[in-house]
Amino acid sequence: MAKRQSGGKQNHGSNTRLAHMGHDPFDFHGFVNPPVVNASTVLFPDAATMAGRSQKYVYGTRGTPTSDALSAAFDELEGSAGTILVPSGLAAVTVPLLAFLAAGDHLLCVDSVYGPTRLFADTMLKRLGVETEYYDPAIGAGVAALIRPNTRVIFTESPGSNTFEMQDIPAIVAAAQAAGDIVTMIDNTWATPLNFRALDFGVDISIHAATKYPSDHSDTLLGSVSANQRTWKRLHDAFIALGVPAGPQECYQVLRGLRTMKLRLDKQGENALALARWLEGKPGVARVLHPALASFPGHDLWKRDMKGAAGLFAIVLDGGGTEAAHRFLDALEIFGLGYSWGGYESLAVHVNLSDRVVAKGPYAGPLIRLQIGLEDVADLKADIERGLRAAAG
Ligand SMILES: *Cc1c(COP(=O)(O)O)cnc(C)c1O
Repeated sequence: MAKRQSGGKQNHGSNTRLAHMGHDPFDFHGFVNPPVVNASTVLFPDAATMAGRSQKYVYGTRGTPTSDALSAAFDELEGSAGTILVPSGLAAVTVPLLAFLAAGDHLLCVDSVYGPTRLFADTMLKRLGVETEYYDPAIGAGVAALIRPNTRVIFTESPGSNTFEMQDIPAIVAAAQAAGDIVTMIDNTWATPLNFRALDFGVDISIHAATKYPSDHSDTLLGSVSANQRTWKRLHDAFIALGVPAGPQECYQVLRGLRTMKLRLDKQGENALALARWLEGKPGVARVLHPALASFPGHDLWKRDMKGAAGLFAIVLDGGGTEAAHRFLDALEIFGLGYSWGGYESLAVHVNLSDRVVAKGPYAGPLIRLQIGLEDVADLKADIERGLRAAAG
């Protein structure tokens, strides 16, 4: 009998499970990795099978062995009933919102949300007749007071984009469940399912920009949306109606990235925390925004709910405006100036909070977001020192 490998052993450690989840090599001649199936058409053996669509695969938009392998891996990571894979992290936000919202509905969205999510709500959802209300990331159980009879979705992101406010997810879920038929969603990109298993906390839908840690390498765009039993069918129906499958090469690349995700995430998280601690109290730095620092306002929530920290945080410069921020960025030699994060290389970006309505600060000076890669910490320290000297003028 062939030796079967299964990733589904819940008693195994995270690295063991990541190494084997999603694909059973003996489903495809023993090759360790699944094939990249490039497909639109799938043939049926006869007319009756075609009429009944009674075979596993029917058309490229509805899944392939490659996308199934990655969906299965996310289902195992998230404990979800099903996972859809879409062409970007942003599509992983917009597809579930379109799936559950209709004209006349009210959306409660955290104010520290990823900027393009806000743009989607303020333009497309508004045009479709959905009203969005932005709430304070610190609201917790207080969200109950904002729930209206037509509130359909509560959208969370914890920690928040760029400013890292932690949300009390169990309290928000409890308020949503008490109010009735409300779907809770989380943009869970920062934590990854390794550090926060959102569905275990009662969240209905967990979203990832797999572009970040799952993919690594800054060369792949992909989004995943994992749903519990209650929400899976409606999410999947919307995915089919919209016709937005991720490409096979991207699915393959992300499955490949998952094998080493914990090693990279742990190392990048460790490097980032070392830098965050070193930056605290450093001349030229007013504040360090990192949930794993005891000084950070949401630290207790992070400690209570999450298993670790990612390699992305921010610093507030001690005064100065855009010019100081640009002097800081231009002096960096190792950190690249670019968007996205979760890759192997360090990046820095000057954050703009002008679209916020509640969570605006105050901050003493410009906000710089740092994505910490796999480089040596001593070299990154020297680079940040160069930036701080330049910012000081
Ligand atoms: C990057 C990001 C996204 C979008 O991912 P893309 O693949 O770049 O579209 C969504 N949410 C968060 C929190 C992100 O950081």
